[in-house]
Amino acid sequence: MRVSRYLLATLKESPANAEVLSHQLMLRAGMIRRVAAGVYNWLPLGLRVLRRVETIIREEMDRAGAQEVLLPAVQPGELWKESGRWEEYGPELLRFTDRHQRDFCIGPTHEEIITALIKNEVRSYRQLPANYYQIQTKFRDEIRPRFGVMRGREFIMKDAYSFDVDPAGMQQSFDAMHGAYTAIFTRMQLQFTSVQADPGAIGGNFSSEFHVLADSGEDAIATCPAANYAANAELVPLPPPAEQRPPPGAALEEVSTPGAATITDLCAACGTTPERTVKTLLVKGEAGPVALVLRGDHDLSLVKAEAVAGVRTPLQFADAAEVQAAGAAKGFAGPPGLAVKVVADHGALQLADFYCGANRADMHYKNANWERDMPLPEAADLRKAAAGDRCPAAGGGALEIRRGIEVGHIFQLGQKYSRAMNATCLNEAGEAVPMFMGCYGIGVTRLVAACIEQNHDERGIIWPAPLAPFDVCLVPIGYHKSPAVRQAADALHQSLTKAGIQTLLDDRNERPGVIFADMELIGIPRRLVLSGQTLDKSAAEHTVRRSGETEMLPLDGLVEELRRRVQASPR
Ligand code: ATP
Ligand code: MG
Repeated sequence: MRVSRYLLATLKESPANAEVLSHQLMLRAGMIRRVAAGVYNWLPLGLRVLRRVETIIREEMDRAGAQEVLLPAVQPGELWKESGRWEEYGPELLRFTDRHQRDFCIGPTHEEIITALIKNEVRSYRQLPANYYQIQTKFRDEIRPRFGVMRGREFIMKDAYSFDVDPAGMQQSFDAMHGAYTAIFTRMQLQFTSVQADPGAIGGNFSSEFHVLADSGEDAIATCPAANYAANAELVPLPPPAEQRPPPGAALEEVSTPGAATITDLCAACGTTPERTVKTLLVKGEAGPVALVLRGDHDLSLVKAEAVAGVRTPLQFADAAEVQAAGAAKGFAGPPGLAVKVVADHGALQLADFYCGANRADMHYKNANWERDMPLPEAADLRKAAAGDRCPAAGGGALEIRRGIEVGHIFQLGQKYSRAMNATCLNEAGEAVPMFMGCYGIGVTRLVAACIEQNHDERGIIWPAPLAPFDVCLVPIGYHKSPAVRQAADALHQSLTKAGIQTLLDDRNERPGVIFADMELIGIPRRLVLSGQTLDKSAAEHTVRRSGETEMLPLDGLVEELRRRVQASPR
């Protein structure tokens, strides 16, 4: 490929509104362009990387015995009504009606479609186990699309669905996918970890997430090396402390806190610290709002909050009218005198003489105490684990917290969809049983961004060889002035390409500095420079993008040598 004929859309300036490095670099390298919030064009350079990601996934899914299918992006509402998710899914589901006023949605996931398909195609346990996968566009109307393709609204997912006749079979299918995912992320040379979502903590089924480790990751992962424990921090069970709550020490006071609607502002106004305060979050519930109370320095776990009886799923904050009806003031809510159900985290319940909202604008209470100043609420485990919390596993110590980007999620569904949609097969005894299913997702477009988060320097992207858009860039110096350089570069370009080495020849009439900077920005693993000087030595200068290592390689045998090196870092 010649740069003069290629849409190399690199940008000099760092684009505004790109918060994370991978998003900045994908824009600067000309891999993607924004179309609308969370919706992107993939340019030729970006698509090359995406295709390499897909190829690795396809190869490993095929190797694990899964069969590729392609299901529609547009799905009839009827199927979602059958599974019960038309009501359950909430505003992330993009719904529309066709010209006949029939309900449709754009698939955020495909359990309904695959279950409806397989229930008609598979009749007997003899046809199982089976696993069907696709690589396809999904749409989720995310409340906060951000970080470019990391959290898009339209994105590509690899999703797979396994079918078994019994739970033991489902476990085997699940284990096979765990193995396939490990192989996939290992081949991509990513630093990753798989974490368990403990079913006991939350109820529901068994699942594992795969995270690429990066400081910019949206997820907190709790690990305990001593017990070899790793879980999403949202899911770590945090039981009530053994100690008793201290008794009240001081009299309740009202304090004026103008404009202090956040814990940070409250602490600044009162000269206190977050662990001496509580925050009160009003969320929508089945029968009016519910107040969730946490210690000021603790973070709400969405998963735990959604497990509280009476709280609506997906979790949504109460609106202004509901806040008012509850007797609260926005930013100044507190448990005393609230006219709604109150549920407090064990950490908040442990406090005495704390600060909380007074349910009037610009007012807080100081030295508030449970039971004395407000009724003792329902207790629950509501918060995310933090560094230093106790590991729940036997022999565990203090938890450490690392940041991760969720790139894969594998899940044992059991009979949830097969029961709802009556997808049965005959077992060995000739009885019709709802099939045991698993579902397995990989964020294909997100993986590209996650890989950049782990592989970059101040000059740009550094692709691991298996994902690079090109294996080599060929930079001739004096291409437009020296016929000898031109001839040698064209010949080398041709023979490299013929040898199956993906080569980008930068034949632009630009200063070498500009070309070098572009090639470094787009992250091609190897650079070959040809110039009058190197030709005098019958050689080319070879530089490795990651290490910066440079050496002269003789032109004689160069293609073979490069093929050997590229194959040593296989795709
Ligand atoms: P998240 O917690 O990040 O919203 P999720 O639990 O909703 O993820 P799944 O339904 O398990 O995600 O989807 C499977 C995979 O698809 C995820 O592991 C992730 O890699 C990817 N994915 C999910 N949502 C998005 C999105 N909005 N943009 C890009 N990739 C996504
Ligand atoms: Mg999501």
